[in-house]
Order: sequence, then C-alpha cells, then structure tokens
Amino acid sequence: MIDSSASKDSAEAVPFLDLAPQHQELAADLAGAFARALALGTFVGGPEVTAFEEEFAAFVGTGWAVGVNSGTDALRFAYLAMDIRPGDEVVTVPNTFIATTAALTQAGASVRFADVNDDVLTMDPRALEAAITPRTVGVVPVHLFGQAADMDPILSIARRRGLWVVEDAAQAHGARYKDRPAGTMGALAAFSFYPGKNLGACGEAGAVVGSDRARCETVRRLREHGQSRKYVHEVEGYNGRLDAIQAAFLRVKLKRLEQWNEARRKAAGMYREALKDVSEVRLPTEAAYARHVYHLFVIRAERRDEVQARLGASGITTGLHYPVPLHLQNAYRHLDLGRGTFPVTEQAADSMLSLPMFPGITATQIYRVASVISKFYNG
Ligand SMILES: *Cc1c(COP(=O)(O)O)cnc(C)c1O
Repeated sequence: MIDSSASKDSAEAVPFLDLAPQHQELAADLAGAFARALALGTFVGGPEVTAFEEEFAAFVGTGWAVGVNSGTDALRFAYLAMDIRPGDEVVTVPNTFIATTAALTQAGASVRFADVNDDVLTMDPRALEAAITPRTVGVVPVHLFGQAADMDPILSIARRRGLWVVEDAAQAHGARYKDRPAGTMGALAAFSFYPGKNLGACGEAGAVVGSDRARCETVRRLREHGQSRKYVHEVEGYNGRLDAIQAAFLRVKLKRLEQWNEARRKAAGMYREALKDVSEVRLPTEAAYARHVYHLFVIRAERRDEVQARLGASGITTGLHYPVPLHLQNAYRHLDLGRGTFPVTEQAADSMLSLPMFPGITATQIYRVASVISKFYNG
C-alpha cells in the first residue's frame, strides 16, 4: 500500500490525513454497498447493521458487538452498562480525547485522573494504584495512538481492588496486547468509527464490544430508547443507533482493515528509519507487549511549535494530540487540578507532534516530512 515508486513532486503538500486512497481503492464496492442499503430501505438498524456487528465481533475476537452512533455513545453506553451510581469514581488518564471523560460524567460518574507512563504515554499502573479511593468503582485505560495500554498490571490491580475495566479502544482497531486483541480485555470496550480512525465510516459511528451477553444486551437497549421490544421500555434509554448506510460502508472497509494496519506499520517503520539520527526527536516507543497499529505517529520534538511551523510552511500538515491535558481544560476547572499535578502528561503535551499518517501515504511523502524535520534541526 506504500507506493515507493510514486514520483510525486517533492514540493507537493503532504496532508495530515488523506482518505482518498482508501476510497479510490474501494469506490466500486462502496457504491455497491450504498445501492444495497438503498434497495433494502432499512436505514436505522436492520440486516446491514446486524451483519456488520457479527463481522466486527469476529474481527475483534469477542462475543458481541453492538453498533451505535459514535465512539462517544459507545463509551457512554458501556459506562452506563457498568451500573454507575452517584458518587462513584472512575479512574482514567488526562492524556486522551475529552470523550473518554465527558461520557463518564454523562453516565453519572466522577472522573479521577491518573498520569501516564513516559515511555508509552498510556496509563501508568502505579499512578492508577495511587488514584484509587474507597469510592472508585472502575478504570478506563485508553489504547492511545494505536497502542494498547499496559493491561496486565492494570487488570491485576483492578481485580485485586474489585474494579471493573472498560477499554477505550477508539484508536486501536486491530491493536494487540501480547496475544490479546484490544477490546477483549475489559468487561466492555468502546470503538469509534469516526472517518479518520483506523476503521472509519463515511460519517459518525461506533460500537461497544464484549463477551458478557447480559451487558451487551443492556447496551443494545440503551441505544434504542431502553426498549426490550418495540414500545416496551425497561429503562429510559437514548437514540444511539448505528445507521444502515454506515454499517454497509463499514462492512466494505472492515475487509481492508488488516491490510491498512500493516500499511500504517510499514509507514511507521519508514519514519523511524528516516528520523533515527535526529537527536532532537524522540520516536514513539513500541512496547515489547504491543502490536501497535499507528492510528497516529506521534513524535516528541524539541522546539515543537517551531518545527511544526516549519513543516506547515513547507506544505506539511501535522496535528497535536493533545495540546492541553484534560485536567487543565476549563471543562475540568472544578476539579481544581493545576499545572504540576500530572507532570508526565503535561511535559508530553508540550512536545508531542503527530506526523502525517494514513494507509496510502507514499514513501516520497514520508521522506519529505523527515527531511524537513532533519533540516530544521541540522541546518
Ligand atoms: C475518537 C475518540 C473517541 C470518540 O469517538 P467519536 O466516534 O468521535 O465519538 C473517544 N476516545 C478516543 C480516545 C478517541 O480517539
């Protein structure tokens, strides 16, 4: 998928994310899926959704998948299915997208943060242990940037302290921890199919996966107004269903996911090779326990803002994930957690830089990004 023969003009812009290569490759199949969904005429739920749920559960290697509106809804319904009660605390990291924690608050829990490990930037098990209080009921590790959190110690702490675990797997389709796929280690896991994710719909979509039938049934009810049968409502639920056209597109794209993940890994290898002698750049750690699927390729760079500006001036778009740690956001002012509370996350936030990464990125594009970076530091 990485076309090293591409003879792109070296002055050509490099987008941060380009979905065109995957859509060109699948244009006929996506058009066919759209036609099939139109012909079926069932636009919310229905056979395309059921088929996608079965195929995605098989891909993850778990019992059930429940398709929902978005990754955020997937998190919210997963949390609600863990029976959160007022006053319950749940521990997660400040180095994540706000959906991880907004959904927690919306499910009725209080957010408690634990800092990340400096190597892998995911939950530090020692910080988790320290964050637990008598009111803690659950923990949400985030498999960030395509790499699973260090799950064995996290799971063992959770077991010992009687906490449930829900995985935020929104960036980790196909990632593995040792031999276990992301999404199979917690009681439930949430995936996002936001268009830019490793598996992306052509709009909003997400899924909750799990091997506990009862909890998956609870999620199924929550997404559909709390009903067990039409107009029979066990609880007040939500309108959080997956639509059929997105499911049809996702079924087409799911067939390519492994190939795309391999292309991302190959692109990451090329970045590593091309940047290995730039001492001002810290390359992302690929942990021995991980199969990293590089949702993002995030370096830590000295003088980050300057190098980002130089890349921008050269037509290379980069991203910041995430520039302001959650505990320093206005949304969490009430927690009263100032600068210095989570030093690893804070330091990383000032130096992380996400380089262009998508299946279909060319070797030429990668070398161009790397050469602008090394020229910036070495003149
Ligand atoms: C994308 C993402 C979400 C939210 O998913 P949406 O589909 O955009 O609602 C949650 N957590 C993480 C870590 C994400 O990257």
